[in-house]
Amino acid sequence: MTKKILVLPGDGIGPEITEEAVRVLKALELGFEMETALLGGAAVDATGDPYPAATQELAKEADAVLLGAVGGPKWDVLPREQRPEKGLLGIRKHLNLFANLRPAILYPELADASTLKPEVVSGLDILIVRELTGDIYFGQPRGIEIRDGERFGFNTMRYTETEIRRIGRVAFEAARKRGKKLCSVDKMNVLETTQLWRDVMTELAPEYPDVELTHMLADNAAMQLVRAPRQFDVLVTGNMFGDILSDEASMLTGSIGMLPSASLDENNKGLYEPSHGSAPDIAGQGIANPLATILSAAMLLRYTFNLEEAARRVEEAVKKVLAQGLRTADIFAAGTQKVGTKEMGDAVLAAL
Ligand code: NAD
Repeated sequence: MTKKILVLPGDGIGPEITEEAVRVLKALELGFEMETALLGGAAVDATGDPYPAATQELAKEADAVLLGAVGGPKWDVLPREQRPEKGLLGIRKHLNLFANLRPAILYPELADASTLKPEVVSGLDILIVRELTGDIYFGQPRGIEIRDGERFGFNTMRYTETEIRRIGRVAFEAARKRGKKLCSVDKMNVLETTQLWRDVMTELAPEYPDVELTHMLADNAAMQLVRAPRQFDVLVTGNMFGDILSDEASMLTGSIGMLPSASLDENNKGLYEPSHGSAPDIAGQGIANPLATILSAAMLLRYTFNLEEAARRVEEAVKKVLAQGLRTADIFAAGTQKVGTKEMGDAVLAAL
């Protein structure tokens, strides 16, 4: 079986950080075929299109896509159709990526970076699985109209059981690869759509007897995430609750340069990218933290290629360099050693 990875460095710090992740993937010697293409502002500059046809073709052919980040002030003045973000939304839609996986991991060495007390968050390791293509964000009808002489705004929360089942399976499978605990988040006390959500998750559970399923209301989940976040392993929820809870969870860690993400389709083809943006303020200086992108490459190994051992090797290597006291500027603290993007990549390679 060929294993094709498309690398899309993008803009800003994107090229610097993806270079380090590519070095890590190559060092594993797993026979990946890698191609590089343009997305975002770099693609607009070269072709006028943020998601050019050539990139679309390569993205369809690839098994997985590793993305840096797109965007920057240079392109913010362009018409909406030519903005780098259009390229990002374009590729997500084109590849039917309906499942978004965002781990929030707080390495004990970085516990001080969180706004929560270290004893509450140190060692945190949770995964939020968010449905990406349905729910109130896409439901029809929607709009703002005049009714009875005043403005009236409305949206529609909707899910089919098929949509719930397919994201449920992704979450159960992910829990199986981790701590085997899945918490499904809904608001079944007031919303029928999420009563269906809970029913379908409950119906799926017997297929995964090794995973413990629990349910929690969204408001309680928001509270528990800051009260005692380590009680969770995997959380699964719809598009809107997931939007809010995944941001809340990622901020528990306090270090944006450390957070990877994955977006998957029905065949585990995936787009893997750091949760942060293109950081134009530090682009080209060789100081960006490449670890979120390297950890995204680990997710690529785990979720698209089912190479659990290789994924763990990469994650262990990252832990090791942190334990050695190496830090890029964004996570630097007194008593540690400040390194640049490339030195951090070198250290991860050495630890591998
Ligand atoms: P950002 O995440 O790029 O930067 C926020 C802050 O975090 C900046 O101070 C930056 O220097 C720092 N930072 C981010 N990643 C870092 C890293 N790896 N190492 C060290 N420091 C890091 O968010 P922003 O400033 O709001 O957005 C900048 C651009 O990125 C915008 O054009 C925005 O549209 C785009 N963006 C792209 C994506 C994406 O490609 N998925 C996501 C968010 C923002």
